[in-house]
Amino acid sequence: MIPLRTLIFHCRLTWFCNFKYNRLILQIRAVLRDRGSDQNLGLCGDSQHKIRRAPTLNKRVNKGKGRMAHYDWIVVGGGITGSALSYELVQQGFSVLLIEQHSTLQGGTRFGYGGLAYWSGTTELTRQLCAEGIERHRSLSQELDSDTQFRDGVLLLTIRSDSNPQTIARTYAQFAIPPRLVSVQDACELEPLIAPQAIAGALVVPHGRVNPEAVANAYARAFLRAGGTRHIAQVTELRRGDGLQITGVVCGSETFASANVAVCAGALSRSLLKAARIPVRLYFTHAELIETPPIDLRLQALVMPAETQRFEMEAAATAAEVDPLWDEPGHEPTAPILDAGVVQLVNGQLRIGQISRTLTDPTATIDAAESEAAMRRGITDVLPALETVPGTWHRCLVAFSHDRLPLIGAIPGVKGVHLFSGFSNPLVLVPPLASRFAAHAAGQRDEAIEQLSPGRWQMTHNAT
Ligand SMILES: Cc1cc2nc3c(=O)[nH]c(=O)nc-3n(C[C@H](O)[C@H](O)[C@H](O)COP(=O)(O)OP(=O)(O)OC[C@H]3O[C@@H](n4cnc5c(N)ncnc54)[C@H](O)[C@@H]3O)c2cc1C
Repeated sequence: MIPLRTLIFHCRLTWFCNFKYNRLILQIRAVLRDRGSDQNLGLCGDSQHKIRRAPTLNKRVNKGKGRMAHYDWIVVGGGITGSALSYELVQQGFSVLLIEQHSTLQGGTRFGYGGLAYWSGTTELTRQLCAEGIERHRSLSQELDSDTQFRDGVLLLTIRSDSNPQTIARTYAQFAIPPRLVSVQDACELEPLIAPQAIAGALVVPHGRVNPEAVANAYARAFLRAGGTRHIAQVTELRRGDGLQITGVVCGSETFASANVAVCAGALSRSLLKAARIPVRLYFTHAELIETPPIDLRLQALVMPAETQRFEMEAAATAAEVDPLWDEPGHEPTAPILDAGVVQLVNGQLRIGQISRTLTDPTATIDAAESEAAMRRGITDVLPALETVPGTWHRCLVAFSHDRLPLIGAIPGVKGVHLFSGFSNPLVLVPPLASRFAAHAAGQRDEAIEQLSPGRWQMTHNAT
């Protein structure tokens, strides 16, 4: 039995060594950065650029007696976007407060399939980010010292029996890694649970997988270990200073001050910003799925339809003429869609989905029984073995943007408020973009961050 005193001494020694080590690394980075020799991560960034603001080497949070705590950054929302961004900001030496309203996640990160569509880049920018994203995921468990449940896998995109496989395959030709068209027989060899009569063929592409909640939790734990602070509370408003400036956040009776607020509140980001008179072109769907307990049946691939309807629906729901509807509850700009798909997590659980609805009220009522029946019909057409699996219907909100690209960086026209949301392909893109965002915040120019600015559309906003 180790005496208590020795144990306390060892704990203190370990803490001290970790603290010294982290500080040393941060100081070395700062010196390198000052000399301009830090690696330039921009796509075609200028290594000679001026540093706009030096990070503060995890400077102590200003929390004098009777005074409001003051952080370099406040991050609102602890899903995958907020937890990754908080971690990266702390790595840059900033003091960071992460505020999440739920003690266990309940948003899109909790219920996502966790697919890493690194094959799906279509431009120089998205191809580069996808390549960076998959590389980062391969080592993320090690970096964060927590299992993200990363696996290399296969995505099987089923082609309906009444569709023409060649025509469908052509619609995927523009991707960085175009999916390969395979016959019905080959598709059934890759995923033996598929009913051959339900398909005319399939498209197959390598596709990583993680457990999105495990990734967010891994980032959050690493953030806390690195000196970040987390607070469980609902941000009820953004705190406005004099003029066009956000100076912190309000959580009911508590107020937190910060020079920079990053809104990572997913689907609720728009309403939070709108309440501070800051309009952004960010939207959300109500996503519905069935989650099973761990089951014995084994799926070999992540199965999705080749003809997904979600992106078409999102484009129609964000046309300029319907944009104002998103600021009022009670609208549904487009009809709901069902993209019948399924993924199996490492522990054997299935997530079967997915219905997406553009209901503008985040709390709108949905008929769960009707939705569950529709999703079960959809998936058993393709995978009849799933007909009787036990499962529970769930819903959550998922943010998206007008052009499928995330909205990242400072919101033009208002000081001190930033956005990191609206990803259509978040799991693969969040890790590289969170680290680019944080490096950019520390003064490193980054063309990717500049291209994804929330100001990329001419926004007329009345922030007065
Ligand atoms: C069925 C399904 C399948 C999916 N499949 C994939 C896939 O294969 N690949 C992929 O990349 N993506 C997929 N996604 C999407 C992806 O999972 C989500 O888009 C992503 O996890 C969202 O992360 P987020 O941080 O933006 O939002 P969220 O996870 O929703 O996090 C936002 C957080 O902000 C908090 N918050 C909001 N307002 C406040 C406030 N005022 N104060 C404090 N906290 C607040 C919320 O509580 C929430 O925890 C899927 C989603 C679903 C539902």
